[in-house]
Amino acid sequence: MNNQDCIFCKIVAGDIPCFKIYETENILSFLDIGPVNKGHALVIPKKHYKNIWDFPADLGTEIITATQVVGDAIVKTTKADGMNILMNNNAAAGQLVFHAHFHLIPRFENDGFKLWDQSEYGSMDEALALAQKIEKMIKSVN
Ligand code: AMP
Ligand code: ZN
Repeated sequence: MNNQDCIFCKIVAGDIPCFKIYETENILSFLDIGPVNKGHALVIPKKHYKNIWDFPADLGTEIITATQVVGDAIVKTTKADGMNILMNNNAAAGQLVFHAHFHLIPRFENDGFKLWDQSEYGSMDEALALAQKIEKMIKSVN
């Protein structure tokens, strides 16, 4: 189920090059071409799934294992102090390539990068009501 117009499917097929660092039957990892910090890599399923909700649960263990293996090697190789592992899902969340992928971004003390600002709930009641609505939604769709 590969997508002809997808740049990551083309990388998997070998039609365009990448700086490969890890490969299994179902997973590929390569350097992100526009690194936040050097060593920034992507871990992707070889098959085309567009986002986390499209992604089959039975690949979950394999992709987390790959993320651990690759992440550990990047941290050791780059002598990073930490690592952000993140996934953008849908355009509103910053997804540019619609082939599911995890970013592994090595982080260094004082590298100056900062995650977004946090806000707060207006009241405990507001937070409780929202938590209960989400809980109810989980029960109704699963
Ligand atoms: P996202 O915004 O989560 O969809 O991230 C897509 C990422 O893919 C960006 O960080 C890009 O730098 C990276 N990227 C796009 N094309 C390539 C490519 N040909 N090789 C490696 N990384 C790429
Ligand atoms: Zn694809």
